[in-house]
Amino acid sequence: MTHAKDADELREKYYHSMGAALTEEGDLEEAVVFFQKAIDIHDTPYAWYGLARALSYAGDLAGAVGAMTRAIKLAPGIPEYYHERGTLLGTLGRPDLADDDIKKAISIDSNYERIDTIRRSVRIISEAFTGPVVPGDVKGTEVRSKELGRILDEMDNRMRQMDDVFDKPSCPVTSCPAYCCHFTGKLLLHGVTVGPWKLQSLRESLREKGPPEEDLLEAFPLAQAEHCESLFSPRDIIPRGGGASVTFPRQKDCRLGRELARDIPKGQDYRTLMWISENAKPCIFLTDGKCSIYDVGGDPSLDSCASFLCMTGFIFVALKYLGFLNGEAVRLKAMAELNDIAVDALIILARDVYGSEEAAASNEEIAQELKTAIEHDRLNHEAPCSAAIERYDLLKVRHESLTDRLIAAAGQKIARLFEGKP
Ligand code: SF4
Ligand code: SF4
Repeated sequence: MTHAKDADELREKYYHSMGAALTEEGDLEEAVVFFQKAIDIHDTPYAWYGLARALSYAGDLAGAVGAMTRAIKLAPGIPEYYHERGTLLGTLGRPDLADDDIKKAISIDSNYERIDTIRRSVRIISEAFTGPVVPGDVKGTEVRSKELGRILDEMDNRMRQMDDVFDKPSCPVTSCPAYCCHFTGKLLLHGVTVGPWKLQSLRESLREKGPPEEDLLEAFPLAQAEHCESLFSPRDIIPRGGGASVTFPRQKDCRLGRELARDIPKGQDYRTLMWISENAKPCIFLTDGKCSIYDVGGDPSLDSCASFLCMTGFIFVALKYLGFLNGEAVRLKAMAELNDIAVDALIILARDVYGSEEAAASNEEIAQELKTAIEHDRLNHEAPCSAAIERYDLLKVRHESLTDRLIAAAGQKIARLFEGKP
């Protein structure tokens, strides 16, 4: 690639990544500007898609339909483009056209028939596994009662335990060709950046054993861009050669290709992973589907890469934690089948366990009792506080036996999915 093309690619990726970050932050006016700058460099479907989303959130539905139409023209095989244009057209009072688009999305991916259930289920499962265990208005509360302190500590520990489960090195889908380590372009939305400690140990190792650092790592000088702090973790911004920069792995020359790209997993919100297309290239550290960086330098892994989990990876981590992962089936099944199992298992867990009416009601009761105990503790009412803690403990035991029962029943259904039975 020529130097000028290289710089263009970097800028395009930066503009589009910024557009996405600003959309998340709600700065829609700026987001639109960034997507347009990205499009001025490369007419990519994902930048038009991003522009369509920013315009629709800003209330410009007709503009959003126009941008989504352009995205569809450039990438006619992506179901969510049709689905989202269909939703926009429905809101604009064109149910006939909306219907055509929704049908088209379903014909490409039948999961679009239940997309609302999928997205709701993802929210329920994320909340159950990685959401705050301690209710927001209780977190960090100073309490007098030792018993209450014990309860809050237990909640904190559970939160830390869950962080460890969903943290590095995370994905148990051993048969996946590690799509998450393939990417189109350079600046990466999912944050494949090399933190300072890993960089230091990598450099030491490369100095001793080679190859030269430049063969494996690339740096993005932050002086070339505004708002970079929205894209990168501050700890990954490292002083270098008189300015700050972010370091990330280079890519190999080979492409992912149509065959493998066909079964690409979705993101955790069931959206296409924007940085992966059939033209995506693997990270230089990806060897035989595994990250070889674990063997380079002293640190076990790169935090930022290892913390990315697609929908399938995320659900399979949850299944592993619950003891429902059938390792043999995971080894033998194709990625497309594993993606389907992940979606079905997600819906079972959300519907039958974590989002079930029984579990939600029981959770609500427990949270209420905890708040009552904290309120009494704040007012220094010892006896009512102890009584509330006693009720809390009782409810907690009941809740645990309820969820154990629901989880066991869900486990049987999930086991059948791995066996290929309905
Ligand atoms: S996180 Fe997803 S894409 Fe990455 S290795 Fe796991 S299943 Fe594959
Ligand atoms: S450094 Fe490793 S985990 Fe990160 S993108 Fe590259 S191969 Fe994947």
